[in-house]
Amino acid sequence: MTAAAAKGIATRGFAVSGPEAKFEPFEFQRRELGPKDILIDILYSGICHSDIHQARAEWEPLIPSLYPMVPGHEIVGRVTKVGSEVTKFKDGDIAGIGCFVDSCRECGACHHGIEQYCIKGSAQTYNSTEMDRQTPTFGGYSKHYVIDEAYALNVNAPEEALPGVAPLLCAGITTYSPLKKWGVGPGKKVAIAGLGGLGHMGVKLAVAMGAEVTVLSTSPSKEEDAKKLGAHNFVNIRDDEARTAAAGSFDFILDTISANHDYNAYLSLLGLNGVMVIVGVPTEPAALNAFSLIGGNKVLAGSLIGGIPETQEMLDFCAKHGITSDIELIKPDYIDTAYDRTVKADVRYRFVIDMANA
Ligand code: NAP
Ligand code: ZN
Repeated sequence: MTAAAAKGIATRGFAVSGPEAKFEPFEFQRRELGPKDILIDILYSGICHSDIHQARAEWEPLIPSLYPMVPGHEIVGRVTKVGSEVTKFKDGDIAGIGCFVDSCRECGACHHGIEQYCIKGSAQTYNSTEMDRQTPTFGGYSKHYVIDEAYALNVNAPEEALPGVAPLLCAGITTYSPLKKWGVGPGKKVAIAGLGGLGHMGVKLAVAMGAEVTVLSTSPSKEEDAKKLGAHNFVNIRDDEARTAAAGSFDFILDTISANHDYNAYLSLLGLNGVMVIVGVPTEPAALNAFSLIGGNKVLAGSLIGGIPETQEMLDFCAKHGITSDIELIKPDYIDTAYDRTVKADVRYRFVIDMANA
């Protein structure tokens, strides 16, 4: 596959041409560097379940899938060229790219550094367009990215840690942001629902923040891992007895589940004034029983990734606490299999594509 050739920097990646297509090599162009742009040689690119939802058109019609699609929004790479006005990076630095690459820069959200909520809609790293609303964006399953330095992150980690840093750019910030906002810390009983890419980061971060952490999982085989990740307790959510025993016991639940599930069942595990934040995005709308909330004065909220300042804060927090993602490093010819395994909840705990050697 080849994209219509515009003038720019030739690169290549891996794309799908439709919801049922397999990944294929794809040649396309990145834009020439503007004064504030940096060119990144991509080293590692994580596979987020959002890549799967979009590559397989599971979020349509709310989020249309644009093909050819090069997914990937957990990107770590080396800066190889900088524009004349760049100040944050120099050649050889390691940079990260997360879920968006630009925004309007004028609205209240952009001014407050929560660009993911840009009132005009931020430019997503892939399956989107640049702010001209015309030029398609292609993601991190590729060799290079050109991005305005204001939307790239500084990564300070040893070379060997970089594969495990890539997933922080989405899974890390998506869990860090609500844990921090809702005051997770010492004395709080926190549950992480779903032990996948997001969930295992949620466990590590909530433990580092000082909370008592329980994993709510459909996979009893993950109990040992949950403990190794630092969780204090594990509940097999499909075991009626174990679930009933946990009723009313949490201050906070972070729901990272990718598949359709019954929110009411999870809300029943919150105590008085408990809060559940949804970050997982199942494909179907769910039925909510009002009694699930009103009985215990409970809060049900949502959260979308995090802005640039908070993403930098999260990377620095992880560096300080020695936190990276547990990963399985794969070659691009394994992406289709990695997708199938992720959907089966058979990922421990993030697939990362070795783009450096692709
Ligand atoms: P993932 O690695 O596939 O993990 C999802 C986990 O959900 C699975 O490992 C599994 O954990 C659990 N699960 C799967 N099917 C289930 C079911 N039927 N009932 C209960 N639990 C089930 O996915 P991910 O990359 O962490 O992403 C999770 C979700 O978050 C996706 O929908 C993704 O699109 C979304 N997301 C949202 C944001 C945001 O900003 N809000 C950002 C990134 C991703 P167990 O084996 O432990 O049950
Ligand atoms: Zn993601």
